Amino acid sequence: MSKIVMALDQGTTSSRTILFNESGKIIAIDSQEFPAYYPHSGWVEQKAEDLWNTQKQTITRALNKASLSLSDVTAIGITNQRETTIAWDKTTGKPIYNAIVWQCRRTAKFCEELKAENFDQVIKKKTGLVTDAYFSGTKMRWILDNVEGARQLAQAGKLAFGTVDSWLIWNLTQGEKHVIDATNASRTLVYNIFENQWDQEILDRLTIPLETLPTVVASSGVIGVTNKSVMGAEIPIAGVAGDQQSSLFGQACFEAGMAKNTYGTGCFLLMNTGEKGILSENGLLTTIAWQINGVTTYALEGAVFIAGAVIQWLRDELQFFKNAKETQAMAESVATTNGVYLVPAFVGLGAPYWDPYARGTLIGLSRNTNRNHITRAALEAIAYQSYDVFKCMESDTGESLTTVRVDGGATANDFLCQFQADILNLQVSRPQIIETTAMGAAFLAGLATGVWKDQQTIQEMWKEERLFQPQRETAKVDQLIQGWKKAIQRSQHWMNEG
Ligand code: ADP
Repeated sequence: MSKIVMALDQGTTSSRTILFNESGKIIAIDSQEFPAYYPHSGWVEQKAEDLWNTQKQTITRALNKASLSLSDVTAIGITNQRETTIAWDKTTGKPIYNAIVWQCRRTAKFCEELKAENFDQVIKKKTGLVTDAYFSGTKMRWILDNVEGARQLAQAGKLAFGTVDSWLIWNLTQGEKHVIDATNASRTLVYNIFENQWDQEILDRLTIPLETLPTVVASSGVIGVTNKSVMGAEIPIAGVAGDQQSSLFGQACFEAGMAKNTYGTGCFLLMNTGEKGILSENGLLTTIAWQINGVTTYALEGAVFIAGAVIQWLRDELQFFKNAKETQAMAESVATTNGVYLVPAFVGLGAPYWDPYARGTLIGLSRNTNRNHITRAALEAIAYQSYDVFKCMESDTGESLTTVRVDGGATANDFLCQFQADILNLQVSRPQIIETTAMGAAFLAGLATGVWKDQQTIQEMWKEERLFQPQRETAKVDQLIQGWKKAIQRSQHWMNEG
């Protein structure tokens, strides 16, 4: 029988389990959604128990679908929503507060304080991150300061902090392992990504005791085995990476200069920069791509806040179409947008503009503008925004990209992929297996347990479905981009203008 690798993909809206065989083919898949809670404006929480329970349910159901039992599985890999922070009592294994989700803004004010004292410079130099409520460190501090008994528990050496990978592994091993992988650690704001250790200076400023933090482990390597009484069998947990890093690995972007872009609600772009962590001049993040066999590989990361979400907006709010699929034919039914630009700055603009006061702008309308032009402008905007982030990466690394590998729901749209290739003037490569996030976790686990011999073997397993070649003349592309830049200018500083 072919060896089976199980990937646990604990995401922001659902937990999923995917079983892969030795040739990287999906054998079974199961998913389960869970609720989020919004106790105050800008606050986002989930129940830590829900994350674990839904994950466990999907394990059972995926195995049932494949008529397998856990003992048939060679290794388990984990990938997870990043930065989400959980605190629990080591003696009881019970969470002392809800999971504080990455989206939660409750610590924004404290982040402003850190910036006011220029501590953000220290943080950037050591962690590669910008000082933002998004990351785990300030969430841990909030728990210590606001949850009754948290500090006492910490003083007694009984408090455990972790990200979602830590929490799943704690439960899978029934409290035997309190760990975090290097990619998840690199999103905590308290981990020195260059020295590969928790940073005492930042911990002191955030008043987080070192003893509360998990042990940092490699992204590929056997961490421990599942507990028999909880899971029914002892199976090695052998690979862990945060979702975006896992997708970079699942896309087999193993060489410096290789990049992937995930087109979901937003876009996440990551570029492998090899063994060198490059600090961005453009507000991008420096992060650990993975740590394997004692070698740390770094990546530059940039995000587009609104990507596929602009398509949802056209569908739900403007009711332009019923299904996102229709957008391709609509966009292709017109030769151009007829001069229309849509800047979906619904929540401000990220790299390289960093303008929280920008707002959505639809500009260049004329008497004959129709839904197809606007829909096309929305798809083009996804590509333009990704273009802006890619240009930052090229400027930070001094390298020109040749290919970008793409995944995520919106890459089903051929028009978008082609337009992206044209605008970037590089090849856009879409893989056969688009479950790249789960695939990455499976690869990391299989690599550590001999299912796959080496990264070369994995590289060969990655298969392209379609390559989009740039087709447009440079002069035409330049003209389009100039129009985009003008449209961006009109969208900026909208909220704070008198
Ligand atoms: P997430 O993981 O962020 O929920 P997905 O990878 O599932 O996102 O992708 C869903 C997003 O992709 C939605 O925002 C949706 O509007 C967009 N989308 C899905 N199909 C298409 C399509 N054919 N063309 C353009 N956008 C699409």
